[in-house]
Amino acid sequence: QSFDTVTFLEDVVETNRAYGKQHGVSFELDCPDEPILIFADHCRLEQVITNLLSNAAKYASEGEKVIVSAEPDRESGRLRIAVTDFGSGIPEDFRDKVFDKFAQADASDTRAKGGTGLGLAISREIIMAHSGVLDFETEAGVGTTFYIILDILPEEKASTEPEAA
Ligand code: ATP
Ligand code: MG
Repeated sequence: QSFDTVTFLEDVVETNRAYGKQHGVSFELDCPDEPILIFADHCRLEQVITNLLSNAAKYASEGEKVIVSAEPDRESGRLRIAVTDFGSGIPEDFRDKVFDKFAQADASDTRAKGGTGLGLAISREIIMAHSGVLDFETEAGVGTTFYIILDILPEEKASTEPEAA
């Protein structure tokens, strides 16, 4: 269905705020004032953002903020949603495995962070099904940004097309 990304991100961040707090990080939104309409599966996209937020919370340094931003590029018609943390970064030898199923940088039985290592594999499949891009930039000791690129829904399409059930 079509919906506004700004309201959507506000809602997802709100839903996950308590989880962030448990890990000592606060989520901060950096979005434009005007709505950014996209055509996407609301529920699945929420699943993707929730995973990125939970990863940022788990792997960011305590006391740091995590920035969630939406940047529309009206010229190209593309939207960039980004989740930036100030954590350990992703180790160089793990970078090409990040999206593999059951892949976790710390594979020991005594891992502190839990999870299955499926989150990013599933997230990437969902974004690919939307003809979008899910990728990351990371620097050891500085932090990580996971970003999603999606098409913005042109105004005329949004107003003339009935919402899909
Ligand atoms: P799940 O999402 O299934 O609960 P998970 O979070 O471990 O488990 P993914 O979301 O697929 O699995 O992430 C895979 C691995 O990538 C993580 O275990 C972690 O090692 C690494 N990783 C993911 N996001 C970050 C990040 N923001 N900073 C550092 N490492 C990360
Ligand atoms: Mg995860």
